[in-house]
Amino acid sequence: MKMQLSEIAGAVSAQNDITDWQTVEISSVAFDSRELKPGALFVPLVGERDGHKFIDKAIENGAAAIFWQADHGEAPTNVPVIVVDDALKALQALSKHYLLKINPRVVAITGSNGKTTTKDMVASILATQFNVTKTQDNFNNEIGVPITILSMEPNTEMLVVEMGMDRPGQLDLLSRLVAPDVAIITMIGEAHIEFFGTRDKIADAKMEIVNGLKDDGLFIFDGDEPLLQERAKTVSQRQLTFGHSKEDDLNVTAMTPTSVNTTFTTNVWPDTTFEVPMIGDYNVNNALAALCVARTYRVAPEKSAAALLNLDLTRNRAEWLQGSQGEQILSDVYNSNPTAVKEVMAAFSKTPVDGRRLVVLGDMLELGEQSDALHAGLSPAFDPDVIDSVYLVGPHMHALYDRLATTFDADKLHFYQVDELGTLSADLLATLTAKDAILIKGSHGIHLESVLATLRTTD
Ligand code: ATP
Ligand code: MG
Repeated sequence: MKMQLSEIAGAVSAQNDITDWQTVEISSVAFDSRELKPGALFVPLVGERDGHKFIDKAIENGAAAIFWQADHGEAPTNVPVIVVDDALKALQALSKHYLLKINPRVVAITGSNGKTTTKDMVASILATQFNVTKTQDNFNNEIGVPITILSMEPNTEMLVVEMGMDRPGQLDLLSRLVAPDVAIITMIGEAHIEFFGTRDKIADAKMEIVNGLKDDGLFIFDGDEPLLQERAKTVSQRQLTFGHSKEDDLNVTAMTPTSVNTTFTTNVWPDTTFEVPMIGDYNVNNALAALCVARTYRVAPEKSAAALLNLDLTRNRAEWLQGSQGEQILSDVYNSNPTAVKEVMAAFSKTPVDGRRLVVLGDMLELGEQSDALHAGLSPAFDPDVIDSVYLVGPHMHALYDRLATTFDADKLHFYQVDELGTLSADLLATLTAKDAILIKGSHGIHLESVLATLRTTD
């Protein structure tokens, strides 16, 4: 990106006179002074910490200019400054200006689960035919989306943005900011039910992604979700549904899951067999959402199939790893919620193993009042004939422990506090053999990645 300060000042309605700095060139935008590259515009966001405190650090690292919030008193004089009312709003306004200037097609993706995976799939498919910019990491909120926009190369033809939300109104803002050509809802689950109370309310909030959808835009959604079917009736734009029913516009006609991938065929391209090179049937749904985009932008099925096989995945999902005892580890330690646990348990339970299947499951966080019920509700996923031993971690898992105590033998069911991960790792190392397979899953806050690290260390 290249922009002169005069252009930026216009885009954000600067409150000060910037005559002296009109031609200062900005080559990127940063809100973290530590990650700032020389030539960047530093945006001091006011949150838990106040970015204005890090302006000296930003200048030291080469900031070419800074935003300064008017409510913070006198602006510094040792750097080109643009005075604004609110640094976050100015960041958003600047991203809007840049988006209109580069003018790519925009694909916006939300959903309780599968946003990042679908984003990577859509980007991979579109990259066979277009210059694509996509969300990096999990930069999917009111800061991350503008940063994603501002990261576009000028030749970007397609922008693929992930949009997260944890409260009503958030997707409304993001959708109106990017005015998508395509808006996707991957699925409605139970993530963030603590704040919303019901899946109905989650669905309402997810539907905000169509609020900014262009009039000639396209709404793509999980057609097997009644909450979305019902709400889609009030959307006037074109629609495409995906799923497993014949009623869906793009549907699965056959599907073969194995422990490492899933192959499937569809009604739209009956002669093409697609493969998602990942664990979990649910990734077929993510692929279907992405294939709806392929159909819209006329990417040939063989190109889409190759793109799905060669995914450039953002790291944070289930992956098979090898442990130090030779055991197979299915690791999914960055994210957990009831739908995701049920899905990954289904995949893991089908995995062929010579020895035992062990499961380490950490608390699912942010489930609010329904937390106990949702933890206990996982019990049908644990069949003692299929799963040998279960290791539960964290206070919320008491509810599941009590349920499983009625079906599992006492020596097969274990409970640990979150500060006992060292003991857990030692207990696992003492029992695991090369024939076993072990699933490790929990919310990021439980830090099961430390258990994973111990199991993978060979010495
Ligand atoms: P986050 O809210 O953390 O950004 P996300 O929506 O981006 O999550 P992914 O990172 O794509 O989701 O996937 C996270 C996990 O969610 C996966 O490891 C898997 O367990 C589960 N998951 C992914 N896709 C689906 C889906 N379509 N249906 C149900 N569960 C899914
Ligand atoms: Mg994500």
